[in-house]
Amino acid sequence: MNNCNHTWLYIGSKRQKIWRCTLCDEYRIDDPNIKREWKSLTDEEMLSCLDRMTFKESLLAVEAKLKEKNNGI
Ligand SMILES: [Zn+2]
Repeated sequence: MNNCNHTWLYIGSKRQKIWRCTLCDEYRIDDPNIKREWKSLTDEEMLSCLDRMTFKESLLAVEAKLKEKNNGI
């Protein structure tokens, strides 16, 4: 993380789309294989997390469930 207002220059290859900032050394890779979709909870899953003793415990349960569904992101 820096304060650079990145200007991306495409230096991709056939296998990967790679962009490099012309102002700093930052680069990013657009790999379709690592693109992940965020999964949210269904209503039932949400409700199943809200029966904890305290509000905080319910929140922690929701968070744990979300992590589980999103493979520990
Ligand atoms: Zn930059």
